[in-house]
Amino acid sequence: MQNEIGNEVAIIKEKLLYWRRHLHEYPELSFEEVETSEFIYSQLKKHRELEIFRPTKTSVMARLIGNEPGKVIAIRADMDALPITEDNDLLFKSKKHGVMHACGHDAHTAMLLGVAEILVGLKEQIKGEVRFIFQHAEELPPGGAQQMVDAGVMENVDQIICAHVRSTMEIGKVGVLAGPVLSSPDTFSIKIIGSGGHAAKPHQNIDSVIIAAQVVTNLQQIVSRNIDPIDDVVLSVTQIHGGTALNVTPGFVELSGTVRSFDPNLRKDIPAQMERIIKGITEAHGASYEFEFKNGYRPVINDEELAQVVKDTVIDLYGVDALGEIRRGMGGEDFSAYLQKAPGCFFYLGAGEKNATKNYPHHHPKFTINENVLPLGVNILVNAVMRLMMK
Ligand SMILES: [Zn+2]
Ligand SMILES: [Zn+2]
Repeated sequence: MQNEIGNEVAIIKEKLLYWRRHLHEYPELSFEEVETSEFIYSQLKKHRELEIFRPTKTSVMARLIGNEPGKVIAIRADMDALPITEDNDLLFKSKKHGVMHACGHDAHTAMLLGVAEILVGLKEQIKGEVRFIFQHAEELPPGGAQQMVDAGVMENVDQIICAHVRSTMEIGKVGVLAGPVLSSPDTFSIKIIGSGGHAAKPHQNIDSVIIAAQVVTNLQQIVSRNIDPIDDVVLSVTQIHGGTALNVTPGFVELSGTVRSFDPNLRKDIPAQMERIIKGITEAHGASYEFEFKNGYRPVINDEELAQVVKDTVIDLYGVDALGEIRRGMGGEDFSAYLQKAPGCFFYLGAGEKNATKNYPHHHPKFTINENVLPLGVNILVNAVMRLMMK
């Protein structure tokens, strides 16, 4: 079986490159993936064995139903690009100025098209159903995943898997974690309202700049002094806006930033802890405030059993050395929306060069991937699905 799949992957290698390069040349921003989703639809349409749906305006879902009953296994790929101008010299460089596939979602889409093609060829051996989820808008909250879930793509799904390329991990390595993988990227905005006036007469004003500065430093005590050091939390003020002139004390200052964590209870408590500090400091100085906290994507927490199946698949295919060292990170991913409906596993495919100085991070204008990751990813995904099906 493993060999049969390997041969099929080798046969479609050129197609994988064509799909990925075409998508790379014509990137589209989140929620605007009109041509991208049309392209996916047209490629899937070639297989009579697939039932194809458009769950939302710019997404595609396909079902491959086997002859025998069994589990429903879903695989997800995202397809959106980023508002970045590409700074690579590639033959298939982005043709859209200011838009670029700088997170590898072009590769994810190409791989899932390849996985669909190979599994269609193995239809006689499919028990249950394999569902292919081509999701729009991963990069922009509220994200496409929740919309896909609301549209019913997870109905009856037993397990879901997803592979994300990683430019900072060497090609050939695969990173699989059990438990927490990515955090919940929540955001906040604060307005410190003082009373402005002439900068030469500070005694007549309530200086929102000084009060805002105290709020920024005191918020840091939540992570350093209120939260158990064993827990992972990030609280960063990333923007400060205030003032219009050198000799005017501004009437207000606006702060905003991000809070990231894994633990749902901590996540629930942090906004109140922040507000206590903001309220205390502004009140102490006769100012007032507005505070808004927005929950982002939920944390991505992998199912232990599924993570083990993916690991076993990688070990069987490429040996134990193929498992790369990986730690959970404070980034976010809306794959977590699917995990509310079924257990899943989100894992990384190394797509960087051996020489790490050549690798640019995700969301960088020079981001690129080693395309050997495409057949490798397809091979792992197809084998993992077959393994899950038999379990
Ligand atoms: Zn990204
Ligand atoms: Zn991404």
